[in-house]
Amino acid sequence: MESVIQSVLDLNPEQIEAYFLNIGEPKFRSAQLWKGIYSAGYTDFSQFTVFTKSLREKLTSDFSLRTFTLLDTTTSPVDETVKFLWQMKDGYKIESVIIYEGKRVTFCISSQVGCPLDCKFCATGKMGLLRNLTYAEIVEQVMQMKALSKYPPTNIVYMGMGEPMLNYDAVMQAADILSEPEGMAFSRKKITISTSGIITGINRMADEDQPYSLAISLNAPNQKTREEVMPIARKYPLNELLQAARRYTKKTKKRITFEYVLMDGINTSDADAQALIELTRGIPCRINIIPCNSDDPRYQPPSDTVIQHFDRLVNKNHRTITIRNRKGWEIQAACGQLYAANEKNK
Ligand code: SAH
Ligand code: SF4
Repeated sequence: MESVIQSVLDLNPEQIEAYFLNIGEPKFRSAQLWKGIYSAGYTDFSQFTVFTKSLREKLTSDFSLRTFTLLDTTTSPVDETVKFLWQMKDGYKIESVIIYEGKRVTFCISSQVGCPLDCKFCATGKMGLLRNLTYAEIVEQVMQMKALSKYPPTNIVYMGMGEPMLNYDAVMQAADILSEPEGMAFSRKKITISTSGIITGINRMADEDQPYSLAISLNAPNQKTREEVMPIARKYPLNELLQAARRYTKKTKKRITFEYVLMDGINTSDADAQALIELTRGIPCRINIIPCNSDDPRYQPPSDTVIQHFDRLVNKNHRTITIRNRKGWEIQAACGQLYAANEKNK
């Protein structure tokens, strides 16, 4: 491995402080650096005019502030969803997306290069897992997009590539950094971690009292169908998953978001809607219905009539339900469409 300059985003406040003390600078430089990186969003050490020229040069030789190369930007002609393809230092590629919806500006970020869980309807699943992202790489997606976005984010969701619960520590550390009051100070509850149902991760979030929001991708109304489309359901069965969800809402007093990808002929019947209502009964939640976006003829969205009918059935039971429109469909940036052609993909 060639030696690479460390990303300053890798450092936590204590490490930054130690660095400055070590080179004979006062402790308060640490707060200044932190503010510049995360609050001002500087992209280059030359912007730190609070520092002397020699200190700026020292920082430039010791650290990098941005490590990604932007390979491609795709903007949807229809709804202004923007997808970014980044190349990281070691050549792997990841994608992140900005979704503009009225006042809502959602930054959708990746937690892994690929994903090991192989959900049948998901493009990322086809890649397999290439590697986990470091927390600096997770944070950098947000910092990079912030500099390019028309508006600052109102929501940050871990709904890009990867299963966040399988990279738990980095995912939480990145969320901590993004919400650190001295830095970007992003609202903790506006950061959502979406999981395919890794029960150990859900329990851990509850036990650690993590302030972030949780979304669970249910995607099927019974164990059999769920196993067919989400192989991870064999390891974490639906009944145990719902128990974990109940426990989470009790312990944290927070609502969960359940996501349900509508796949024509697979999970869209009246009986499926009824089963979904039964499954989630008594759990403080919101249900997001997402029409499937896929090139695969086996996993197609149902017709608009079926979508509206399903929505009505679930809604009759007084649940908040949002049909996420198929934003980004035209540019393959919607959920499940993120697939970066990685040369190192085996
Ligand atoms: N691995 C995590 C987070 C990334 S996927 C998870 O599975 O929750 C984010 C969301 O996109 C999940 O709710 C997933 O069910 C959904 N999704 C995956 N493939 C999709 C597709 N082809 N069409 C629509 N949504 C999809
Ligand atoms: Fe992984 Fe989520 Fe895609 Fe399943 S839906 S393969 S868990 S990214």
